[in-house]
Amino acid sequence: MSQGQNNELVCEKTEDWDEDDVGKRIVKRVTSNGTYLNELVVHVFCSICAASFIGPSREAGGFLGGHECLHAWEFGQVMGRDDGLTE
Ligand SMILES: [Zn+2]
Repeated sequence: MSQGQNNELVCEKTEDWDEDDVGKRIVKRVTSNGTYLNELVVHVFCSICAASFIGPSREAGGFLGGHECLHAWEFGQVMGRDDGLTE
């Protein structure tokens, strides 16, 4: 890896990312939560339900965490029936 910035692809978009943007870097993205700098656009998928997501790494983490929480809840619903934790 060199320090040269010539090879690095910059993504000009701040929304509406697709496959062509994966691997590019978003230099700056301003949201209501804060300003994100130098994020990569990534393509991730949920290994449980196969949903997928293309976007900034921060949002990809939220996607994966959200699915993990949902599927853990679903699993708990099924497993909880016999132990009195659900109505
Ligand atoms: Zn899922």
